[in-house]
Amino acid sequence: MTVFPIDEWKGRETPFYYYDLDLLRQTVEEIKRCAQEPNWHVHYAVKACATEPVLKTIIGAGLGTDCVSGGEVRASLEAGAKPEQILFAGVAKADWEIRLALENEIAALNVESVEELENIERIAGEMNKVAHVCLRINPNVDAHTHKKITTGLNINKFGIQMKDMMPTIEKCMTMPHIAFEGLHFHIGSQITDFAPYRNLCMQVNKLVEQIEAAGIVVKNIDVGGGLGVSYDHPNHFCIPDFEGYFRTFRKFLKLREDQELHFELGRAVVAQCGSLITRVLYVKHTEQKEFVMVDAGMTDLIRPALYDAYHKVENLTAKREGRKERMRYDVVGPICESSDVFVENFELPLTHRGDIIALRSAGAYGEIMASQYNLRRLPGHVVSE
Ligand SMILES: *Cc1c(COP(=O)(O)O)cnc(C)c1O
Repeated sequence: MTVFPIDEWKGRETPFYYYDLDLLRQTVEEIKRCAQEPNWHVHYAVKACATEPVLKTIIGAGLGTDCVSGGEVRASLEAGAKPEQILFAGVAKADWEIRLALENEIAALNVESVEELENIERIAGEMNKVAHVCLRINPNVDAHTHKKITTGLNINKFGIQMKDMMPTIEKCMTMPHIAFEGLHFHIGSQITDFAPYRNLCMQVNKLVEQIEAAGIVVKNIDVGGGLGVSYDHPNHFCIPDFEGYFRTFRKFLKLREDQELHFELGRAVVAQCGSLITRVLYVKHTEQKEFVMVDAGMTDLIRPALYDAYHKVENLTAKREGRKERMRYDVVGPICESSDVFVENFELPLTHRGDIIALRSAGAYGEIMASQYNLRRLPGHVVSE
C-alpha cells in the first residue's frame, strides 16, 4: 500500500505525479511469478507511462516492451531494453519509424494493413533487410469495456479483418523482405472479467489451426494486453489479479511447445503505483454545490474528461489530521472547459484551501497524456525512496 510522504512536499509546487517504485517492483515480480513458462514473454506497453524511472524499473526487472511509435522504440532502447525484447505495433507507422525499427533489429513489427505491409517490404528492400512481422488480426471479440477503449470489434480501425487474414499471410510469403512470424491481437483495455480473454483464446486456436492447415508455421502468438485494475479500491487491490489472467491463457490457449507467447500489459503494470498530487486552491460554495477547486486539471489527467473515468480522490491532509466531519463535493480543475471535473458529489472529509489531495490509480495514461492546453506547465513527477 502506498504511503504518501506529504511532509516532504511542503514547499513543493503542485500538481505533480508521485510514483511508488516499491509497489511497481512488487507488481512486476508478481507478473514474473505468474508467467514463468520459458516460452512466455511479457512486454510492457510503454504508452501507459514512459516516465524514465518507471520505465527503467520495469525494463531493469527483465520485461520487454511493446511500442506504438518510433519515440517509444527509442525510449525503450535508451532505458536499456534489448532490441530482441521490443515489439512495435501501431495502426499506421511512418517511414522513419519503420526504418528505425529495422535499423535497430527489434523483434517484430505488428502490422495492421496490407497497405502498411507493402510499405515495410519496400523500405526493408531499400535497406537490404528482412522485416519480421506479426499480423494484427481483429478477432471480433467484445471486451465489454468502454466504447472509447474497445479495439477488437470489426467496427474499430484496428487490425486486419479475419476474412482477409489468409490472403495477407499468403502475400507475406511472396515478399522477399518480409518474414511472417505470427499473429497479434489486442481486444481492448480495462478488462476486468476474464471471459473476453477466454473467447480470444478460442478464436486464436481456430485461426492458428486454419493457418497451419495451409502448411504455414505460426511461431509467435501475441495476445496483447488490456488487463484492468480496481479504480475503486486502489489500496485493497494494489496488485491486479495476474494469477487469474495468466491462468486463463494457460487453460484455454492451445500452445505448441515450440511456439512463443507474448503479452503486452500496460495499465495493469503501472496504474496503481502512480497518483496525481494536487493542492486545493478554493472551496467554492454555491446554492447547489460545494466545489473543491484543485490546481490539477484535465491537462494533467485527462481520463475523466476523455473516458468518463473514475479516480478515487483522497484528502491526504485531512487524513493525516484525522478530520472526522464529512461532506459531498464536486472536485474540479482550473481549466476553461466544463468537462474539467474529476468527481461529482463525492464524499470527502471537510476540505480546506491548501489541503493536499491525491487522485489515485493514475500511473497509467496519466502523466503521459498531459498537455499544455491553457499554456500550463507539464506536471512532472516525484518518485519514492
Ligand atoms: C495500448 C496497447 C496495449 C496495452 O493496453 P493496456 O490496456 O494498457 O494493457 C497493448 N498492446 C497494444 C497493441 C496496445 O495498443
